[in-house]
Amino acid sequence: MTAQDPDLAPVTAGGSGIGPRALPFTSIDMAMWQHTLERPFLVRGIGLHTGMPASVHVEPAPAGTGRVFLVGGVEIPALLDAVVDTRLATTLGSGNARITMVEHLLAAMHAAGVDNARIHVDGPEVPVLDGSARTWVAALHNAGLRAQARRRSPLTIRRAVRVESGDSWAELWPASSFEVDVTVDFPHPHIGRQTWSGPVTGHHFYQLAAARTFGFRADAERLWASGLARGASLENTVVYDDDGVLNPGGLRSHDEAVRHKALDAVGDAALLGAPIHGRLRAYKAGHALHKQLFEASRADN
Ligand SMILES: [Zn+2]
Repeated sequence: MTAQDPDLAPVTAGGSGIGPRALPFTSIDMAMWQHTLERPFLVRGIGLHTGMPASVHVEPAPAGTGRVFLVGGVEIPALLDAVVDTRLATTLGSGNARITMVEHLLAAMHAAGVDNARIHVDGPEVPVLDGSARTWVAALHNAGLRAQARRRSPLTIRRAVRVESGDSWAELWPASSFEVDVTVDFPHPHIGRQTWSGPVTGHHFYQLAAARTFGFRADAERLWASGLARGASLENTVVYDDDGVLNPGGLRSHDEAVRHKALDAVGDAALLGAPIHGRLRAYKAGHALHKQLFEASRADN
C-alpha cells in the first residue's frame, strides 16, 4: 500500500477510553497512555543517498517496546545512543547494521504520539518520498492509533541547557508541552533569516509536515561528484541556485526552509524516546548539534 496524500486539515479524534481512535490527541486523558498503531502499513520509495528502492513496513508493537528499526534481522532502537552519524542525515546503527534518513518518519511518529512500533526497513535508508513528512502523516493517520495499558513516562526538562558550535547554538528550556523555536539564516534571496516557533505535537505538526528537504545547487553538484545524494532530484528536494528555486512548482510556503529545519529537529528530539515537556530553541543548528544538546540535557536533567 502506498499512502495517499494527507488531508492537511486537523482531524478530530474520536471517543475516549482505551481503544482505536484517529489522530491527533485532543484529550489529556489519552495522552497519559502509550500508543501503538491500530494496523500495519507499508510505504515504498527510493533512498535519497543511494537512489535505490527502499521500503518501510511499520507494525504495531507491545507497550514498552519503543520505536525500533529492524534492518536485516538486527534491532536498532530509535534512541540517541544508537546514533552513529549525523553528517547528511541522522543515521542509527547497531553492530554492522545501519539505517539512515530516519528523521522525517520519526518526527511524524513522535508528533502523532506513536510510542511503540516495529519499523522493518528494506535497504540502508528510509525512503525520501517527496522530501517531507506528509506521506508518513497520511500513513499514520490511515493506520490509526491504539492506546495501550501502560502509562507514558514523559521527559520533563527542569533546567535550561545550551550547546554551541561556531555561531550556531541550541537550547532546551522547561515548558509544559513540546515546542520548538527554530531560526535559519542563509545568505540567499529566497531564504535569509526565517524563524518558526510553536507547539509540534498532534495537529500542530501539520504546519511542518509538508516542508521538503532543501539544498543548494553548488552543494548538490559537489555531492553528486562524490557519489552521494544519488537519489536527490527536484521530486524530493528543493534546490536553490544563485537567485531562485529550480523546482518548477516553487516553494510550498515562503518559509519552507525553516519549517523543514523544525521538522528535522522534531525527528531528532524523537530519539529521546519519550514525550518531551520542554522547548527546543535552535539557531543555525543541525543533526549534530541537536544530538549534543540532547546528550547534555540528559546529563543535566
Ligand atoms: Zn530533513
